[in-house]
Amino acid sequence: MNIMFRENAIKILANNEFDSLNTSMAQSIIEDFWNVDESDNVWYKLPDFLKNELKENDPPIKPDKNKYKELLLYGLSNKLEDGCNSFLELELTRIGIHEKIFGVEPNLISCECCGYRSLRHAEFEICEVCYWQNCGGNVVLAMSLNKKSLHSARLSFSQIDVSSEQYMSVVSNERFIKYVRGNL
Ligand SMILES: [Zn+2]
Repeated sequence: MNIMFRENAIKILANNEFDSLNTSMAQSIIEDFWNVDESDNVWYKLPDFLKNELKENDPPIKPDKNKYKELLLYGLSNKLEDGCNSFLELELTRIGIHEKIFGVEPNLISCECCGYRSLRHAEFEICEVCYWQNCGGNVVLAMSLNKKSLHSARLSFSQIDVSSEQYMSVVSNERFIKYVRGNL
């Protein structure tokens, strides 16, 4: 088995995902990343018309994905970057590429509810594994935002793999492969 660097794997996977994006998926990613600006490295790779649109306009409705390709590839890569190496390996095997992934895995923060290392900031960030909104240890705020206590969210996670029943329909099993389990 050959070795592939993470960066390369992410590039291949992002391009592959781009090819299968439909209009509504493209629109949702564009909306998520419409806040990029000069402080992001990707800004300098974007075409001028897109920089102008980002500054002046709201995100497009029913976008032509090819017109926004650079922004979409950035968004797709950004999401993949949180995945551990074995997750990238598995995603590559789905498209027929069998390589050992090499490179430093992301150093993410453990979610206070499920313990998976899924967070970049830990404040006001929703965990992709259990859907608990983390509040940096502020239990009162966490309780009001999540509409339940951390204790009861942890209990839910131990029973149904999400912090609250309402999220059972939106999650996929690959989240347990994408993130590494940390400490609670
Ligand atoms: Zn979590």
